[in-house]
Amino acid sequence: MSENETILELVKVSKQFGGIQAVENFDFKVEKGALHCLIGPNGAGKTTVFKLITGLYPVSSGRVKFKGRDITGMSASKRARNGLSIKMQVPGVFEDLTLRENIRIAAGNYVGAASLDEETERLIKMVKLDSLGNPPVRNMSHGQQQWLEIAMALASNPELLLLDEPAAGMGPEETAFTAELVKELNAQGLTILFIDHDMDFVRSIAKEVTVMHYGKKFAEGTVDEISNHAGVKQIYLGNV
Ligand code: ATP
Repeated sequence: MSENETILELVKVSKQFGGIQAVENFDFKVEKGALHCLIGPNGAGKTTVFKLITGLYPVSSGRVKFKGRDITGMSASKRARNGLSIKMQVPGVFEDLTLRENIRIAAGNYVGAASLDEETERLIKMVKLDSLGNPPVRNMSHGQQQWLEIAMALASNPELLLLDEPAAGMGPEETAFTAELVKELNAQGLTILFIDHDMDFVRSIAKEVTVMHYGKKFAEGTVDEISNHAGVKQIYLGNV
């Protein structure tokens, strides 16, 4: 893909927490339309990179660019309004409220009262929960709650969606549903960057893969290239 199709770019981004170098001189690009996965062993810096992209943490040094614009100093809420959305791993749903009430809260940040019903239904359909009725969230399965959260992350109509381990804690059926959902959202034009540990899941959906190790970029390529990369196999076995 050509340079001008880059939607997100990190230029020599570093992040320290006291004496810990969580991310170091990380150069990284996501192309528009990509379904790009960030993998790496525990503590490699993946979640920190997500927080630097969304503005939840300030960078220690380096630049973050989104849609060609330098957003390094932009607040997290402004980044969200500009098309960046994230579904974190920690649940962010309101368990005492219903499915639709949760979506209405998220959608209400972006549309007026007159469009709220329509927008709620649109978002429920996007994650295929429209046949579920309107149960209290606490009665929904783990997977359904995760898909609800994806719907809430879609409320801002993002151009880039970040998903932190979207299939974590799911059984095979829910994982397969999540893989289909992520692929369909990508096929509709949404650029997606996700973190995952499960190589089978990564292989089932990702097109591009970047591997982090000790805060740095270790390898990058197609799913096949990374699956067959001797160094990547080694770090996953703990030999490097
Ligand atoms: P995992 O796969 O286990 O979630 P990760 O690749 O997402 O790991 P990070 O959570 O980004 O890795 O952590 C990278 C390093 O930074 C680790 O050494 C971690 O302990 C450290 N770290 C992350 N967040 C903080 C923080 N808020 N304060 C101090 N250290 C932190």
